[in-house]
Amino acid sequence: MVRIIGGGLAGCEAAYQLLKRGYSVELYEMRPVKNTPAHKTEGLAELVCSNSLKSEDVTTSQGLLKKEMSLFGSLILECADKARVPAGGALAVDREVFSREVERRLNEFDGFKLVREEVTEIGTEVIVASGPLTSEKLSESIIKLTGADKLYFYDAVAPIVTLESVDKEKSFWSARYNKGTDDYLNCPMSKDEYDAFYDALVNAQTVILKEFEKREIFEGCMPVEVMAKRGVDALRFGPLRPVGIFGENGERYYAVVQLRKEDNYDSLVNLVGFQTNLTFGEQKRVFSMIPALHDAEFVRYGVMHRNTYINSPAALTESFNLKSDKSVFFAGQITGVEGYMESTMSGLIAGINMARYLDGKEPLDLPETSLCGSLSRYVANCKSNFQPMHVSFALLPPLDGKTKKQDRKAKYSERAINDLTAYLNEIKEA
Ligand SMILES: Cc1cc2nc3c(=O)[nH]c(=O)nc-3n(C[C@H](O)[C@H](O)[C@H](O)COP(=O)(O)OP(=O)(O)OC[C@H]3O[C@@H](n4cnc5c(N)ncnc54)[C@H](O)[C@@H]3O)c2cc1C
Repeated sequence: MVRIIGGGLAGCEAAYQLLKRGYSVELYEMRPVKNTPAHKTEGLAELVCSNSLKSEDVTTSQGLLKKEMSLFGSLILECADKARVPAGGALAVDREVFSREVERRLNEFDGFKLVREEVTEIGTEVIVASGPLTSEKLSESIIKLTGADKLYFYDAVAPIVTLESVDKEKSFWSARYNKGTDDYLNCPMSKDEYDAFYDALVNAQTVILKEFEKREIFEGCMPVEVMAKRGVDALRFGPLRPVGIFGENGERYYAVVQLRKEDNYDSLVNLVGFQTNLTFGEQKRVFSMIPALHDAEFVRYGVMHRNTYINSPAALTESFNLKSDKSVFFAGQITGVEGYMESTMSGLIAGINMARYLDGKEPLDLPETSLCGSLSRYVANCKSNFQPMHVSFALLPPLDGKTKKQDRKAKYSERAINDLTAYLNEIKEA
């Protein structure tokens, strides 16, 4: 009997993977006995916000992730298909039909038991899938198990763009304020460029935070647009300070945005000090006014929201279990993956790996060329500045040989599907 804590997307997918492999599951869901600040129903797999599970086109990262998950057989995808509503190239669902279908499918298994109860202790042979709004008492138990420095309570993330998409003519590498090694990609601005950027930034549209998020988040971290509103030069004395940064021929600049590598993945850079609460569309519009970022490809937009997640690189393996206790798995947003499908994917992998653990088998060794393999590796191995992450082609190893830019996504996709199919056939998990 495996216990799963949390009947969200990850917990339900993990339960299904175990049930179809013959294991009994007790799924603990605290709603409606105890509610979260965002859920509105007592249904399993409630979609807390948008009803879109995003693109189905396999040349997008979200579409490819769905294709990969379908190779394993995914409960959430099958139920989403049944609850589908028209949404162009995206997979959107009637959220109530979807939630009911998930519960119906799980109830078909004799070994399935749903327990409406808040879990406060973790125990063993368990999958913790309690999500970004994990209850306080369970959070305390997670801290006891993993250490106080290994659980975070909100995201205040700056946007991440692909290095390839930054204009190299309009940027240059150097040390931060001339100290240390050349680890910062400087994106300078003239006075006119800064003034236009500043105007757009202070007038841009922001996301409306929920009351509980306003209280918790803004005490800890100031968004770049809020700092900007303190005065036209506030950013030039803060994250855009140009002091000590000179061009190749000693040029000085009015303001400089600095980009820093996302550590072990040299293909990504983040905008230093740009934690933001602007809407995604406004981030694209306003931050693309930074001259070197005119064509920037945003892999992850900045967010500021309540999000409980563990410091996975310190606590977890690539198989989503604890380094310190292999019988305790984590799944979903709490592992530092971000988004509906990413959370579901980690539930799927954690569920299969729990079954393999109980069978005495080695955990999955997913191809790093697949999106599920690359994101699992990212959360377990990111070396510093760990922040929750979406799937992205930028997390995949480069393609062999030269490929035209417009063909790359199709090639990444083809390679991922081929490698994952071959691997699943080899280990008989397809
Ligand atoms: C407000 C908000 C809006 C979001 N909007 C989107 C969006 O539009 N698109 C997107 O892709 N992602 C969104 N996300 C991010 C993320 O994809 C979702 O939160 C997703 O539901 C995470 O899946 P999960 O299974 O990890 O957690 P959840 O779906 O939250 O499931 C966790 C479950 O655990 C239960 N639980 C918690 N503590 C306990 C306990 N102690 N005992 C028993 N049960 C417990 C909760 O009640 C919940 O049902 C949003 C997140 C938040 C917080």
